[in-house]
Amino acid sequence: MNKQRKYKQRTLEVHAGEKVDPVTGARATPIYHTSSYAFESAEKAKKLYALEEEGYLYTRISNPTLDVLEKRVAAIEGGVGALSQSTGMSAILLSILNIANSGDEIVASNNLYGGTFTLFKNTMPNWGIKVNFVPTHDLEAYENAINENTKAIYCESIGNPKLNIPDFEKIAKIAHKHDLPLIVDNTSAITMVRPLEHGADIVVHSATKFLSGTGTSMGGVIVDGGTFNWANGKFPQFTTPDPAYHGLIYSEAFGNKAYITKARVHLMKDLGTVLSPINAFLILQSIESLSLRVNQHCKNALEIAKFLKNHEAVSWVNYPGLEDNENHEMAEKYLNGNYGGIVGFGIKGGLEEGKKFIESVELLSHVANIGDAKSLVIHPASTTHSNMTEEEQLEGGITPDFIRMSVGIEDAEDLIADIDQALKKAVS
Ligand SMILES: *Cc1c(COP(=O)(O)O)cnc(C)c1O
Repeated sequence: MNKQRKYKQRTLEVHAGEKVDPVTGARATPIYHTSSYAFESAEKAKKLYALEEEGYLYTRISNPTLDVLEKRVAAIEGGVGALSQSTGMSAILLSILNIANSGDEIVASNNLYGGTFTLFKNTMPNWGIKVNFVPTHDLEAYENAINENTKAIYCESIGNPKLNIPDFEKIAKIAHKHDLPLIVDNTSAITMVRPLEHGADIVVHSATKFLSGTGTSMGGVIVDGGTFNWANGKFPQFTTPDPAYHGLIYSEAFGNKAYITKARVHLMKDLGTVLSPINAFLILQSIESLSLRVNQHCKNALEIAKFLKNHEAVSWVNYPGLEDNENHEMAEKYLNGNYGGIVGFGIKGGLEEGKKFIESVELLSHVANIGDAKSLVIHPASTTHSNMTEEEQLEGGITPDFIRMSVGIEDAEDLIADIDQALKKAVS
């Protein structure tokens, strides 16, 4: 690639981070399935261990195949660097642990992926990190939830599953006013929005979803926007010596890549949440068609949402692409003409009818995943969000009649025919 040219989205998806293999000339990214790397000399090894030189020493810290994936996702999001992870959950976990210790707090939107909600609500408090949940659109609540222990604001670009789209720019302003970073999980809106361009400082992804796009590989990515000042006095992790590296100070040694470098050489090294090279390879294959797929997901989802809206077995439809949707305005502001691949709807009757519907679809699969090329459907109240209390479920929009569809890239006509026959069977 030409280093001077600022390539556009589709080009980045196909090429960013690529290296033609120096040994064989292989055009595809090779799978470097190795745990370790032969050191050229004792001196070189010593420098690698001290982080004085860049290079590969052990795959739990870095790997050439992961490197291509990291550079590609960083380019897609417009960040200065990225770190791949074994899953989306480990990306989220490290994004927080990189800046928060016991006694610290996070402010988070209450409209989150179920796994994230459980991590924030139950697990992190056991380690002394408290999360204060606020309604996605209540700007005053974010402001009020911040105190001197707060280390970040956290939200999702299209909240799963209520599909709330936060006003990134306003929330980022609140975060920055208090010298805090905004972390955005952009799994559901990848290629539709670049949160870093709207004030976010860190972006996290479940690569298991649209990035993989095939339902084959788990993975996660953290992207560093490179603009946040970690030396502002609130984050001693970056400005005090790390004894693990002879007193190295991250903000001085790594400048605008301090955050992502620390996540790698401190947390991933200590916690071992590395992605497998073969998964990185598989995810890279899919990224070549990322926005082609995402656009088709969105196009199909809009058609299905419109179809459901007029269906007599359906009591309500939640899709940001519908003009009367409460998130339509935010979608228009941020998602560049797309509205996401997830459609929520209420089936007339409720729980029993919902189960019957899910058992009656033939083309759609009953699966706990999103962003797959294949269309998927699930009943959140009894599955993905079943660990929540009834009150928490209702607050997150998880009513008993709610069905969530992750619309795939098939022909919309075939999907609509399948949904129609299943609705008729379920509500008769
Ligand atoms: C799936 C998902 C996650 C978790 O990712 P895994 O790869 O399953 O660990 C996090 N956030 C969102 C929005 C997701 O959809």
